[in-house]
Amino acid sequence: MPIQILPPQLANQIAAGEVVERPASVVKELVENCLDAGASKVEIEIDRGGSKRILIRDNGIGIGKSELALALSRHATSKVASLDDLESILSFGFRGEALASISSVSRLTLTSKTQDQSEAWQAYAEGQEMAVKVQPAAHPVGTSVLVEDLFFNTPARRRFLRADKTEFNHIDEALRRIALAKPSIHFVLSHNGKLVRQYRSARTERQHQQRLAAICGGKFAEAAFAISAGNEQLQLHGHLGIAQGEQSFSEVQYFYVNGRIVRDRLVNHALRQALELHGQRLDAGFVLHLELPPQEVDVNVHPAKHEVRFHQARYVHDFILQGLSDAIAQLQSPLAAPSAP
Ligand code: ADP
Ligand code: MG
Repeated sequence: MPIQILPPQLANQIAAGEVVERPASVVKELVENCLDAGASKVEIEIDRGGSKRILIRDNGIGIGKSELALALSRHATSKVASLDDLESILSFGFRGEALASISSVSRLTLTSKTQDQSEAWQAYAEGQEMAVKVQPAAHPVGTSVLVEDLFFNTPARRRFLRADKTEFNHIDEALRRIALAKPSIHFVLSHNGKLVRQYRSARTERQHQQRLAAICGGKFAEAAFAISAGNEQLQLHGHLGIAQGEQSFSEVQYFYVNGRIVRDRLVNHALRQALELHGQRLDAGFVLHLELPPQEVDVNVHPAKHEVRFHQARYVHDFILQGLSDAIAQLQSPLAAPSAP
């Protein structure tokens, strides 16, 4: 075969292979877009595990009529314009790939209204030539993305979909991860017309505690103690729950870097060391947030952004180890123990 440039539809479908693994990845990408758009409320409606229908509605800034079609094209983003931007990124998105990828493997309808437009507009893209039609619609300020018949044109992918319940559980988990990172945002999730989750915006300490219990379970919220450590560069905060007796909290393990959930060996290593140091069980649960200057971490390592690279990995590791270790030591000290009756 001679060398040739791939048609856009095919290029997008290939990219979708990396970003859109299953309905939960669609939900993750679309909800992150809502947050990047400054939404305070995000509603998610799922039908049949997401394979039939995914609708994500937000009250963010919206997309102007003239940019609707552009938003669906590959490498189109409002979040970075230069390499400098990329190196100091704080938004979830920056690759400009999600909408293009998702629309190449589904029937996608994007409806939006900005503050300064008197009416809403809608763009519809159905695989094939990526030709986008834009027409007037009804919608309040904000954006709705409707994704129907995911993988209808990529049968190999479609065959990998599991039972609706399994796919929905992945979506539920994707939302938990995001909702833990963004306690001030109100999230609503329903499946087949039935309300499944309602995470209300948390402001007070008590509301934060309620939200932690709603997402991670009451047992974890009860057992967990607050972590807070910091220096000029690094901040670590969140909760650590050490299981007792029959309990195990190994299901509750969430680590965030600048609000983005990541899997990181370095962090797991530091945690394990801290627990071992104090003779604690290793099936601890945690929700930990690390904040550091964006220049100190590379988030552009993986298309789905599951991994990051710290520029000073050793330093970050030791900081986390110290922070956790101090917190556990404090917990064990006789002063921290509840007073005897
Ligand atoms: P990225 O998030 O990497 O920029 P996407 O393909 O996810 O790429 O989105 C492309 C662009 O569409 C975004 O940069 C943003 O300008 C716009 N967009 C997508 N979703 C929303 C939304 N819910 N609200 C406002 N703008 C959006
Ligand atoms: Mg995005």
